Amino acid sequence: MDNFFTHYRCTQCGKEFEPTGLHYLCDVCSRDYKPGMPLLGVLEAIFNYPAIREAWLQQPDIRLFSAVNPQFYPPIPVGDTPLFMAPRLAESIGLPQLWIKNDALNPSGSYKDRASQIVVADAVQKGVEEIVAASTGNAASSLACIAASVGKKAVIFAPESAPPAKLIQIQVHGAKLNKVKGTYDDAFKAALDYSATHECICRNTGYHPLTVDGKKSAGLEIFLQSGKVPDWIVIPVGDGVILTGIHKAFMDLMHSGITDKLPRLLAVQADSSDAITSYWETGTYNDAAKPATIADSISVKTPALAHWAVQAITESSGKAIRVSDAEIQQAQLDLAQLAGVFAEPSSSATLAGLKKAVKMGLIPASAGMTSDNAIILLITGHGLKDTASVRSFD
Ligand SMILES: *Cc1c(COP(=O)(O)O)cnc(C)c1O
Ligand SMILES: [Zn+2]
Repeated sequence: MDNFFTHYRCTQCGKEFEPTGLHYLCDVCSRDYKPGMPLLGVLEAIFNYPAIREAWLQQPDIRLFSAVNPQFYPPIPVGDTPLFMAPRLAESIGLPQLWIKNDALNPSGSYKDRASQIVVADAVQKGVEEIVAASTGNAASSLACIAASVGKKAVIFAPESAPPAKLIQIQVHGAKLNKVKGTYDDAFKAALDYSATHECICRNTGYHPLTVDGKKSAGLEIFLQSGKVPDWIVIPVGDGVILTGIHKAFMDLMHSGITDKLPRLLAVQADSSDAITSYWETGTYNDAAKPATIADSISVKTPALAHWAVQAITESSGKAIRVSDAEIQQAQLDLAQLAGVFAEPSSSATLAGLKKAVKMGLIPASAGMTSDNAIILLITGHGLKDTASVRSFD
């Protein structure tokens, strides 16, 4: 298969970088970057869009938009997750229609496998043997899983408070686990320090530009599976990389002249981990004061991709909303009992957010009326990864 990736471009100053090297942040814009602030000078993968259009007209294939040639992909299949209707769930919140894209069905049980697939493929192509990552749990268990399939070494920095099942996944797959006494934000810095002194690729989310690009594939799948651009996609947001990746999928499709419409994105955050929501509301960035939520995968004080994510919400005419842990736990049961989907708390947050957005009139109840204005809930992680956070049944 031909590869249409042409170069990286800085999302802030536009400086271009050749596609073959290992690049993280723009050297000019990241001069003032220090761990503990949102990333500066994040790079975007740019493609030869007219050539993609030609190839797509011959044979639509999401791999045309891949920055790494699929010949380097790990052998374990990632993505191609089901998109299906959830009529009982739709009725329960007064919507005529509701769709679920279930990414909990990826190899390690989370959406993170999409980014890991591309970063591991990048390591295979470059002949680099070691990949390091910071994680709240899922990025790490994902990297451990995908790296194992090609025999690459995964080095993980994760908070010791991560859900036990996620820490076990990391170890079962043979990765080196460094438990960090502290938060995810501390782990992020530890992984950056490690990669500065070791020959490796750093998979930190948002920092390695292919994490955004890898995370776009679900957006491309949604377009191919439904044959159109949905009205709304509801996305749980921690660092903002999934949201930005989904947005980039539709931007890439637009640049290729394959669509002329963007889906509106509803970003859902936990009450105490709401830096991107506040930034979108006020136009000013501030860290989340003190993240403390059962939704560990979206518990982030300083979202890595805050700037690009807020731009993506705005560009898509989207919105951002907060939900409480109690709302998340109720939504988790609703998803399980009305749709048959057991999602971890962070992805149950999507349903909680949608419910609230409909109730508040942010999304009209007439949305989702026809298949042309479908609403899609993105389910990002499997409920079995964190059973301790399920509401008590006593
Ligand atoms: C990582 C993760 C998220 C949030 O993704 P970001 O790119 O950090 O915004 C949501 N749900 C699950 C299950 C995750 O693992
Ligand atoms: Zn720059």
